[in-house]
Amino acid sequence: MPELRRDPIVDRWVIIAENRAARPGALVNASDSPREPTTAGLETCPFCPGYESETPPAVFALRGHANDPNASDWRVRVVPNKYPALVSETASQPDRGTYVPRSPGPESLFAAAPAFGVHEVIIDTPRHVTTVGQLTNEEFADSLTAVRARLEALRHDLRLKHAIVFKNVGCAAGATREHLHSQLMASNLVPPLVAAELRGAERFYDTYRQCVFCRMIDDECASGERVVDQSSAFVALCPFASRFAYEMWILPKGHASHFGSINDGDLADLANLARRAIARIESLLRSPAYNLVIHTTPFDSLAIEHYHWHMEVFPRLTIAAGFEWGSGCAVNPVSPEAAARVLRTFDKGSASPGSR
Ligand SMILES: [Zn+2]
Ligand SMILES: [Zn+2]
Ligand SMILES: [Zn+2]
Repeated sequence: MPELRRDPIVDRWVIIAENRAARPGALVNASDSPREPTTAGLETCPFCPGYESETPPAVFALRGHANDPNASDWRVRVVPNKYPALVSETASQPDRGTYVPRSPGPESLFAAAPAFGVHEVIIDTPRHVTTVGQLTNEEFADSLTAVRARLEALRHDLRLKHAIVFKNVGCAAGATREHLHSQLMASNLVPPLVAAELRGAERFYDTYRQCVFCRMIDDECASGERVVDQSSAFVALCPFASRFAYEMWILPKGHASHFGSINDGDLADLANLARRAIARIESLLRSPAYNLVIHTTPFDSLAIEHYHWHMEVFPRLTIAAGFEWGSGCAVNPVSPEAAARVLRTFDKGSASPGSR
């Protein structure tokens, strides 16, 4: 069973999940780029229609006609991860309001707990495509609709505190299935990066009575230097202190702290802008491996003034080496100003590949 362990020195939690090693290594020997779907991937793909019995039963699906959630006429399908890094079947799990992970103390340095949570896979489309740029705008909107629905359902489970949604595209970004999919991991802890964002944003708000993300969006849109693209409701930009070359964030222009509050109109707008912005990265860098993550507020403080949900996309062009892992400090060889400048002009192939 996966286990959460706390480092007694720097108070850092890790998930030890040996069951994950059993995952199929479908892409282990493939190239780092997702590029075009492979024939081998197609023949053995449990995410393609007709192979629903090879995944655990669906917990959610969008389809033309409401019927069996495990039938093959779906547009998006959400299934529990077959090799979860978090597990929901622990003997008893306290409410998120009372859960306090054990701290290291004189009796034992080594604090551990079952890695409790929910780990789901969102199969974005029945088509065997491998990158976001290959989706239609409608397909990406369907996928984001499923994310919103799952966040909305899971927030009512009082044992869960936070959920992170992410995508691994390409082997170098951690994908083990080439058929495009997202993952959702909800647990009783707020992940360290989100916790650091929440703390920093709260500090800024306490001093300036302003959301730091709203302020950043105002400043970036005014200068335009690091803006890649924008619509009336969203902006795609390369953040000032980008950790990765061509790192890009996509944010709602109006203040919104949790992704679950997005309405259908904005969701369609987001799907168009984000798909187009990611397609710029894919065509400029010739289908690099990348990760996409949605950062949103914890389930017990959804609507807050100081935090602003956002999507982060980071191409995996370089391998973190000794300095990065040893110091916790990223080295980025491409300035965000240069990245935004070239991404703005690189609009080839970023038209939606057409409607279904
Ligand atoms: Zn497939
Ligand atoms: Zn804001
Ligand atoms: Zn973030």
